[in-house]
Amino acid sequence: MQPQPSTWGGYHQHQPIAQTVITMRRQVFILFLILAAFSQAARSADQVLLITLDGLRWQELFGGADAELINDPTFTRDPEATKKQFWRDTPEARRQALMPFFWSTIAAQGTIYGNRNLGSPVAVRNDQLFSYPGYNEILTGAPDPRIDSNAKVPNRNTTVLEWVNRQPGFEGRVAAFASWDVFPYIINEARSGVPVNAGFESAPEPVSEREAWLNQIQAQTPSPWRTVRLDVFTHQYALEHLRHGSPRLLYVAYGETDDFAHDAEYHHYLEAAHRADGFIRELWTFVQSDPRYRDRTTFVITTDHGRGSGPRWTDHEAGLEGAEQIWIALLGPGVNAQGEASNTPELGQDQIAATVTALLGLNYVTTGPVGESLIPP
Ligand SMILES: [Zn+2]
Repeated sequence: MQPQPSTWGGYHQHQPIAQTVITMRRQVFILFLILAAFSQAARSADQVLLITLDGLRWQELFGGADAELINDPTFTRDPEATKKQFWRDTPEARRQALMPFFWSTIAAQGTIYGNRNLGSPVAVRNDQLFSYPGYNEILTGAPDPRIDSNAKVPNRNTTVLEWVNRQPGFEGRVAAFASWDVFPYIINEARSGVPVNAGFESAPEPVSEREAWLNQIQAQTPSPWRTVRLDVFTHQYALEHLRHGSPRLLYVAYGETDDFAHDAEYHHYLEAAHRADGFIRELWTFVQSDPRYRDRTTFVITTDHGRGSGPRWTDHEAGLEGAEQIWIALLGPGVNAQGEASNTPELGQDQIAATVTALLGLNYVTTGPVGESLIPP
C-alpha cells in the first residue's frame, strides 16, 4: 500500500516555504483549538457555591405559580395582588415571572434537572422526606436511615464540606451560611472545623463595616420564626464573606420557602422563591465581577425535599407523595450545559456531594458508597 500524505501532518515538499509555514501555523492553530475544547470540557472550577432553597417544589420552579393555590384565599391572602405579580397565561411565562434568573441565565448557560413533565425526575434517596435527612444526604452523598428527626444532634457523618476542608489547598477555605439554626449540628461545626453562621448568629469579630451593620439590624428585626432567620441576613453575610474571604467551597442555605409553606402562606412562599432567585443572581453577578472568581466558579443549586400537592402542598413527610421529588441546577465551568433537561434517567439527591468535589477536581472518597457525580469525567 502506497503511503498517503496525511491530511493532518503532511505537506507537499514542492510547496513554497511561505505556503508551508502558513499551513503549519494553521495546523498548530487547529491543534490549539482542539486542546482548548478538551480543557474546557474537562476543566474544573476553582470555587464552588453550593446553594439550597429549603423545600421549594419542582412544580413552581418549572411551572411557576400553581393555579389552584394562587386562587385559593385559604392559602393566598390577596389572590388578585399575588396574581398580578406571578400569574401569567403559560407555565413558561409564569416561571419566568417567578424565577427570572433561573429561566434566563441558568437555562441559557447551565442545566436544570427535575422537570417531571419532560421526563427528567430527580428524587431524594432517604425515606424520611424532611430537612435534616435531606441535608445530610446532600452534604454526605448518601442517605442515613439513622437520622430520623430534626433534633439538634451533632452529625456523626462527615460532610463533603468537612472532607474538602481537609484537602490540600482547601484548608480554611470552606464556610457555610444558613437560615436554619440546626445547620451547626448537621455540619458538626464543633468537630469539622467548618465555620457555620446560622440561625440568628452574628458575624464573628473582626467584622467589616457591613457586617457590623448587618449584626445590628439582624438583632433589631422581628422574625416570623424562632429557629429560622429571614434569608436576607444569611444572604448578605455570605456575600460579605465572598467579598472579604477567599472561600473555595461556600455553602449558602436559604430557608424561607419551607417555613412560609408550613405556615400555609402561598403568597409569601412565592415571594420567598422570587427573592431567593434574586439572591442567587446577586451572588452570580458578584462572582462574575470579581477577577478572583470570574469564570472559575460553579454554582450547584438544589433543595432538601419536595412537598405534597393540592391542599397538602404545605407538608412533606415520609410517605407523602411528591415529597421525594426534587430538582438540581448547575451553572459555571465544568457543567455540560443542557438548559432545561429532558428524558434523563432518574437522578438522586445523593449525587450532589460527588458533583461538588468533581467540579473542584477532587475525587470524593469516604467510608461508604456515595452517589455518582453529575459531571462527566
Ligand atoms: Zn426542609
